Amino acid sequence: MTDTAPRPRFRLFVEAPLAAGTAVVLNRDQTHYLTSVMRADIGEMVLLFNGTDGEWLARIAALAKAGAALVPERQTRPQASEPDLWLLAAPLKKDRTDLVVEKAAELGVSRLWPVFTRRTNAGRVNTDRLRAHLMEAAEQCERLTVPQLAEPAALDKVLAEWPAERVLLFLDEGGGGPPLAEVLNGLPPGPLALLVGPEGGFDAEERRLIAAKPFARAVGLGPRILRAETAAIAALAVVQALKGDWRSPPSRAPETSNSMKPP
Ligand code: SAM
Repeated sequence: MTDTAPRPRFRLFVEAPLAAGTAVVLNRDQTHYLTSVMRADIGEMVLLFNGTDGEWLARIAALAKAGAALVPERQTRPQASEPDLWLLAAPLKKDRTDLVVEKAAELGVSRLWPVFTRRTNAGRVNTDRLRAHLMEAAEQCERLTVPQLAEPAALDKVLAEWPAERVLLFLDEGGGGPPLAEVLNGLPPGPLALLVGPEGGFDAEERRLIAAKPFARAVGLGPRILRAETAAIAALAVVQALKGDWRSPPSRAPETSNSMKPP
């Protein structure tokens, strides 16, 4: 984007391929957001990304109710690799789960996996709502992908089918593990996952079973008992700072560093 051109007000995730001159038709919700909520005009520019073709500057060509049409004009950022970082989280009360989901997207998680542990209170997970939160957070934080939402499952089933090469950092409030930073500094590069428990924590038997897995490392987050959402957010930050993409300058051009979505 040139220094003089006004920055687009909108940044949207689309499923369609992105290429110069190939029109993209938005879905009904996105069209409603552009036309009725934000009163966008034909000719206005929008940033689009689809998780594979990088980010593109597109012009609004039509605003039909059935679906606004946008025509990509030029790529503003090439697709870039992102950390391979999973978060396994026991579902919490609705607003706290929504917070974990939104922050996981902002903190660069590649896969979010709701897992049911023995003390998980929430009986079910509204995956449509979580997927919408992941997408909205990805649009706002200017990442180039939307985290994948894995099918909610019982923790022991997930661990029984775990990919051996991925280290699972088990956030153990029981004090069973060394400090997270110390474990991270001792790990070779490779795919990582974090596991955070529910409000009631892990029970002793569950803690023992997890820690006994060859791919699992129990880790501590200091002397205080953190709320699950605090533990998830804090641990993700430490992982990104020591092993992830907080160690290199952002791929975004500085002029697009502000949030695209109005507050
Ligand atoms: N009911 C548990 C208790 O009182 O001991 C607390 C569970 S805590 C609210 C929820 C989750 O956050 C835990 O299962 C754990 O995954 C993580 N967590 C909280 N504090 C932690 C700490 N100091 N070290 C490691 N993990 C922690």
